[in-house]
Amino acid sequence: MTAPPAPPRLPAAAGEETTAVAQPQALSSARWLERHATSLMGTYGTPQRVLVRGEGCYVWDAEGRRYLDLLAGIAVNALGHAHPLQVAAVTAQMATLGHVSNFFATPPQVALAERILDLLRAPAGSRVFLCNSGTEAVEGAVKLARRTGRPRTVCAENAFHGRSMGALSLTAKAAYREPFEPLPGQVTRVPFGDVDALRSAVDTDVAAVFLEPIQGEGGVVPAPAGYLAAARAITREAGALLVLDEVQTGTGRTGHWFAHQDPALGQGIVPDVVTLAKGLGGGFPIGALVALGEGPSGLLGPGQHGSTFGGNPVAAAASLATLHVIERDGLLESVRKVGAHLTEGVLSCGHPLVAEVRGAGLLLGIGLRRPVAAAVCAALLEDGFIANAVAPDTLRLVPPLLLTVEQADTFLGALPRALDLIEREIP
Ligand SMILES: *Cc1c(COP(=O)(O)O)cnc(C)c1O
Repeated sequence: MTAPPAPPRLPAAAGEETTAVAQPQALSSARWLERHATSLMGTYGTPQRVLVRGEGCYVWDAEGRRYLDLLAGIAVNALGHAHPLQVAAVTAQMATLGHVSNFFATPPQVALAERILDLLRAPAGSRVFLCNSGTEAVEGAVKLARRTGRPRTVCAENAFHGRSMGALSLTAKAAYREPFEPLPGQVTRVPFGDVDALRSAVDTDVAAVFLEPIQGEGGVVPAPAGYLAAARAITREAGALLVLDEVQTGTGRTGHWFAHQDPALGQGIVPDVVTLAKGLGGGFPIGALVALGEGPSGLLGPGQHGSTFGGNPVAAAASLATLHVIERDGLLESVRKVGAHLTEGVLSCGHPLVAEVRGAGLLLGIGLRRPVAAAVCAALLEDGFIANAVAPDTLRLVPPLLLTVEQADTFLGALPRALDLIEREIP
């Protein structure tokens, strides 16, 4: 028997050569954007800034300007940027064992699957499939649902579930979907939040109902009270699966580990399937498809699904570090507190452009009375704040979960300035 190898020594801080490989030159933003335009596919539109560094809730652009990051890579960077514990976990795992494929098991992969099941309070027989993105988690759920043998899927109008062909079939936005039709499967779309519409759409030929507890990309629209519980009852009666897409709402985003555990949203229901990604890796790409209970877990058998990178130990270590810090630092409570503070602050500024604040925890949509969200975001960006126009009339805030009240206050000071400017500029 040979002794296990000594734990690796952490590499010294990135030296000149490392930096030279990853960030070849210090160029102006304008120059990087020119090169971006001729080297990257034009799927995203022109980037707003060139970012070169991040720390905590702040990022810096190529000109050295600092921004408070209230987007966090689209609800991803739960621990902000360059969190020391996450950097150490990723570095140590990469220096120990970086990738092995699913012909082999690794400790971080197993520990993460167990942690996810634990946080979900998953019943016996539950299982996790690890993948690399939200789309892949949803695509896995689409395949799992197919295995019921039932032909039809029900999802919500205004939903976003991703961009691969199966996930896209459940995504509502016509501009995303129509260029790629015909899409697989029979899909019925129902108005989000309407229990009667859901009841009449779900019968025994429905394999699964896919729902977001709070529609994220759809403009931060929470499910009305009782809707998820009704969806649970309706699917159970029809023998259909209830799939909750918590890619955006999961991993502490709403101030609960998962949004359906929020008493105001989920009322203690146990879904059949949960999909996770975005915040799960705290900035490292990872996704998870979780089947709750023996029945759903048994639907994808040996050889019926797979992923080369899925369960990669570095991604799993990044995720374990993220979950650890959320718990250790009491971030769920902090998210609820800072989220409530932001909500109150936005509403009490009394600005005539502000209609309402929707959402939960640190997944907030500021509803405006006019479709000027993009212009408001541009004004905020000039002032050093990154927010997102998720809909023409909605600003979305999905900051790192460690945003402080003091940082939130700087945004609350800037918002009325931006709104005033837009009122003057776009009368
Ligand atoms: C972002 C998102 C997805 C897609 O995740 P990707 O990682 O971009 O593939 C799926 N579902 C929901 C609810 C999302 O918010």
